[in-house]
Amino acid sequence: MEKIITKNEQATFDLGKKLGRQCVGGEVFMLVGDLGAGKTKLLQGLAVGLGVKDKVNSPTFNILKVYKIVSRARRLRTFCHIDAYRLNSGADLIALGVEEYFSSPETVTAVEWAEKVRDIWPKRARVVKIKALSEFARQLNIYK
Ligand code: ADP
Ligand code: MG
Repeated sequence: MEKIITKNEQATFDLGKKLGRQCVGGEVFMLVGDLGAGKTKLLQGLAVGLGVKDKVNSPTFNILKVYKIVSRARRLRTFCHIDAYRLNSGADLIALGVEEYFSSPETVTAVEWAEKVRDIWPKRARVVKIKALSEFARQLNIYK
């Protein structure tokens, strides 16, 4: 487990960007953290690191949003952003076809409020726990 403390939103964004640059495809990030922890901020950086050109917003009212990745260097094609806040189990996500995203080598998937769908976490999921330490400090625990 890697423990990182960020002192402002830009640092969390930059960390996401670094994680995005390291992706090779097939990654599934499971984000756990309260409202305002910085899950979306981290994923906005991740998306930029992946090569997503569109602005990533909180998908709360969509549950799932798919973004195109523009990347010549890597085989990445899609970023799948999921917000599980209003869900009670993974069954709802299965119904939306997420397993196909989880297993695609050209896709990177990230789930906010991942604890709501704990029952369908793939074995290789990369768990990121985010906790607010103060108004601007956040602790991010990145597993694996
Ligand atoms: P979540 O998706 O977890 O609900 P957001 O990323 O939407 O959280 O919001 C995080 C909020 O916290 C933003 O308003 C952001 O400006 C603020 N913030 C303050 N410090 C940080 C930090 N170190 N990292 C991320 N966000 C921070
Ligand atoms: Mg969010």
